[in-house]
Amino acid sequence: MTRTFDAIIIGTGQAGPPLAGRLTRSGMTVAVIERKSFGGTCVNTGCIPTKTLVASAEAAWFARRANDFGVEVCGQVSVDMKKVKARKDAVSAKSRVGLETWLKTMSGCTVFEGHARFESAREVRVGEELLSAPRIFINAGGRAIVPDMPGLDTVGYLTNSSMMEVDFLPRHLAIIGGSYVSL
Ligand SMILES: Cc1cc2nc3c(=O)[nH]c(=O)nc-3n(C[C@H](O)[C@H](O)[C@H](O)COP(=O)(O)OP(=O)(O)OC[C@H]3O[C@@H](n4cnc5c(N)ncnc54)[C@H](O)[C@@H]3O)c2cc1C
Repeated sequence: MTRTFDAIIIGTGQAGPPLAGRLTRSGMTVAVIERKSFGGTCVNTGCIPTKTLVASAEAAWFARRANDFGVEVCGQVSVDMKKVKARKDAVSAKSRVGLETWLKTMSGCTVFEGHARFESAREVRVGEELLSAPRIFINAGGRAIVPDMPGLDTVGYLTNSSMMEVDFLPRHLAIIGGSYVSL
């Protein structure tokens, strides 16, 4: 059986959730589909976790230079990367769970968890469910591309997603590419 909505939103990155809020407030029924982590890149593998890691690095930087500011730190300053990662995970989880709860309790909004596939211009399948709407918004975002570089497949490498699992300080780190994420 097909379930009909006024609008379908695929993906819960930057635009999907606020759009769902706007549409439901104007009286529309909305289906929101997410296949992985609520909040997408920014919340889970982009802005928020990386800036949380930067904040830990900044705290270590200040602690090591405390003397320059007239503050005495007794003993050596060391960094516990497992705690740094745990803090990063907790900050991301707070945003992710907050967003998921907001969508799931939003009046007029139905959340479907799974991979969305188009069956026609107005129909989208998520697992066993077939959804239909006159308006379908795609907020399917981006993901890391591993470039086709000779030898890359023979060495270990990280992307912005797999790097989120690192809970130790790498002895060496080569960054390929000089765009804003690597900077
Ligand atoms: C390391 C890093 C750091 C960054 N730092 C910053 C920063 O500090 N400031 C800043 O402004 N920007 C930053 N960015 C960029 C920012 O994260 C992205 O521009 C933004 O998150 C993209 O949002 P989006 O909504 O387009 O897509 P996404 O956030 O990627 O959301 C897409 C969502 O759609 C879902 N999805 C995809 N396909 C389907 C499907 N078929 N069915 C169901 N669901 C699907 C995905 O699971 C995902 O949840 C950073 C990016 C990276 C990688």
